[in-house]
Amino acid sequence: MRKFRIAVLKGDGIGPEIVDATLLVLNKAREIFGVEFELKEGLIGGVAIDETGDPLPEETLELCKSSDAVLLGAVGGPKWDDLPTDKRPEKGLLRIRKELDLYANLRPARVWGPLIDASPLKEEVVKGTDMIVVRELTGDLYYGEPRGVFKEDGMRVGINTMRYTEEEIRRVVRMAFEIALKRRKKLTSVDKANVLEVSGLWREIVEEERKNFPEVEVEHLYVDNCAMQMVKRPSSFDVIVTSNMFGDILSDEAGVVVGSLGMLPSASLGDRHALYEPVHGSAPDIAGKGIANPVATILSAAMMFRFSFGLDEVGDLIERAVERTLEEGYRTPDIRSEGCRVVGTQKMAERIAENMERLRS
Ligand code: NAD
Repeated sequence: MRKFRIAVLKGDGIGPEIVDATLLVLNKAREIFGVEFELKEGLIGGVAIDETGDPLPEETLELCKSSDAVLLGAVGGPKWDDLPTDKRPEKGLLRIRKELDLYANLRPARVWGPLIDASPLKEEVVKGTDMIVVRELTGDLYYGEPRGVFKEDGMRVGINTMRYTEEEIRRVVRMAFEIALKRRKKLTSVDKANVLEVSGLWREIVEEERKNFPEVEVEHLYVDNCAMQMVKRPSSFDVIVTSNMFGDILSDEAGVVVGSLGMLPSASLGDRHALYEPVHGSAPDIAGKGIANPVATILSAAMMFRFSFGLDEVGDLIERAVERTLEEGYRTPDIRSEGCRVVGTQKMAERIAENMERLRS
């Protein structure tokens, strides 16, 4: 089997703790499946500013570009909050996404049986929810020109431009179809085609691509309706594909539907590069205490096996081991419930690794 090169960017706050815990799971995958990795660490965020003055040093960027995948913890913290916006840790994250041309952001939202109480929705509504939001990440209102606040006839006017080329739409739509093919074969495309021309084009392209994926069932929803359906019938969604702005909002909604921040993984994919990171931030309030939940990062690593290395069986085993560990009652403090066994970051990861071994044998 070939050797996979992984750039490991631990970052700030709880970043080093959750990434170190995840490395236990990678090592277990190496033991069980004989997958070989070459792990190389790079600086990003606040620690990079402290050491080099730059939140994304050139050396880190080169490391990421020459790796098969990037595994990232989190960046930011109060120490760097007073720096000007373009010098802050978060700037490193925005730049890396752009430099690696990561145009699709994948956010799975799955309800874990033992944590069903963490959802604000009723159990019978949320039961069985397992969806993935595929959000376009490099176009739309966030990048379109012209943009800015201008003066017109003595009055200030704010302008942002919603803009997509057909190729930008097609590549993310195609990726979403491919993901749907490997799952329950249902794709929901979300737009605002009753009002926006850009959405009309989006819908046309989904229909064109649909012909290449006849096994996939396609549903079109307006974004306002989708926001409602997501809380009314979350378990009916499989893969949702949408533009940058709508995806920003819907992926957060999907996250809250299933509950806990410490459990949400993500992947950002391009044609040549991929970055895997938890949805949450650097949690400075609990950093260094050894109590952070490592599961979001561990599940991000599971996505790395699936999407970057094509090793679905490793991803599946990690997910099953997470589920088993929760069933056994192991919890980090953020997801504690009555009668459970509260453990720290390292112990949680160790138990997941042990369960990988058990489930495999
Ligand atoms: P946050 O996600 O870091 O924390 C929000 C709350 O959730 C906190 O109470 C925290 O303790 C808790 N939490 C988060 N992850 C947890 C985990 N794995 N286990 C247990 N509890 C967890 O968001 P915030 O407080 O708004 O931001 C803190 C810093 O992180 C800021 O500097 C922000 O800019 C940065 N941030 C970074 C990213 C990223 O690196 N991708 C994302 C969001 C925020």
